[in-house]
Amino acid sequence: MGKNFYRSTTKQLLTMSLYDHIYKLLPVPLQNLAVSTYGIFWYWLRFGGNYKSVENDYLERDRYTKQQWDFYQQQTLQKLLSICVQEVQFYRANWSQSQKQAALSGKLSNLPLLEKDPIRANPLGFCRQGHKPFPEVAAVTSGSTGTPIKTLWSASEVRDSLAVREVRSGRWAGVSFKLPRATFSGRMVEPDPDSKGPYYRFNQVEKQVYFSAFHLRPDTAHFYVEALHKHNIQWMTGYAVSFYLLAKFILEKRLEVPSLKAIITTSEKLTTEMRYIMQQAYGCRIYEEYSTVENALFASECQHGRLHVSPDVGIVEILRPDGSRCDPGEMGEVVTTCLMRSYQIFIRYRLGDLAAWDSEPCPCGREMPVIKEVVGRMEDVVVGPDGRQMVRFHGIFVNQPHVVEGQIIQEELDLIRVKVVPTSDFNQSDCLEIEKRIQQRLGASVKVIVETVSEIPRTKAGKFKAVISNLNSE
Ligand SMILES: [Zn+2]
Repeated sequence: MGKNFYRSTTKQLLTMSLYDHIYKLLPVPLQNLAVSTYGIFWYWLRFGGNYKSVENDYLERDRYTKQQWDFYQQQTLQKLLSICVQEVQFYRANWSQSQKQAALSGKLSNLPLLEKDPIRANPLGFCRQGHKPFPEVAAVTSGSTGTPIKTLWSASEVRDSLAVREVRSGRWAGVSFKLPRATFSGRMVEPDPDSKGPYYRFNQVEKQVYFSAFHLRPDTAHFYVEALHKHNIQWMTGYAVSFYLLAKFILEKRLEVPSLKAIITTSEKLTTEMRYIMQQAYGCRIYEEYSTVENALFASECQHGRLHVSPDVGIVEILRPDGSRCDPGEMGEVVTTCLMRSYQIFIRYRLGDLAAWDSEPCPCGREMPVIKEVVGRMEDVVVGPDGRQMVRFHGIFVNQPHVVEGQIIQEELDLIRVKVVPTSDFNQSDCLEIEKRIQQRLGASVKVIVETVSEIPRTKAGKFKAVISNLNSE
């Protein structure tokens, strides 16, 4: 089971340790300058070189038919698999002779699934030998547990990851990277946890406000909204939960938000309730994006609210535990083969996500496959004493007006700890209601401990984890 999986946009997680170290020592105006100077390098890395032609390629493929997509994928896959057999140390060492034969004939389903551990242990073992790009860009997944996974990219692959976002997320939502935007990400924006603000920095080059996900609280929310006004922000993108929490604070405090075109959420699953609250607060439409730091897959929401998988980014499979393919509507494990990156290559990579296909054609006319829903992450599963498995367990906090934030920790099969950041009206009957809801779902034998806390700590990447499982094995 994957432990360490976070979705995010690549740009936010590039390794910047020396940069971070120096950044911490600077006063705020120089931090803004640093962000902008770094922004110039970034701008070149991401939007320079062949960016425009890559963007055009994505546009051209937007209306491909199913047959065209199949052909495109098979061609790209074939090339990639022969590179694996000839030039990638991990696959050369680990695939059997018959698997190598299958790879050379482009038969993906005969190849083994790839776990995260071997990548974690030796990220270079997945790279094409003798083709080290310059510059070689490193991105690191920053999980709360386990060792991060290091991914390695060429500049052209970085541009590719941005171009697909511009074309398939931005355009579909009526926005663009060229418009001023605000982002919540894992980036360390304000190093001091007790800072009195400001809780954002501004990158002049891209007209981008970076919000700190770590300082967002009811009493700081107005600083975030002020930044939107001050920098004429048109749209926002990043961590879904951070935008949701900001939305709640905006509604509670009746803060006035400037007119926004769209919000594109990444990272956490967007629930119906989150979408509703955010629409109320921001007055614009919310679009969901589903991707990974590795860019192993990419899916984005069209105007009809359907989540289309981009077949040129990766071949996505949804599998049953026995490895066979799920039928439409049937929940299974997401396994992906990244077609977009050909330097560090991941074949049949287990993401640790659960999802289902939707076989209904989309009224937008695009023939890219549609994911019905991303049900959850496998590590978000809560298990009952009788073995029943439940995802989206944090749904128990819906319509709990005295709960600002809640987190569920499964300590044992029959012990659930619930951390609650309460409002001043939170009382014993709220505790009983939480206990009741958990027992309704998992059985009356489950013990529930409700703890009130002043805050729920974020992971190192600034993420909020709704569910934590401390059960050791599956
Ligand atoms: Zn559509």
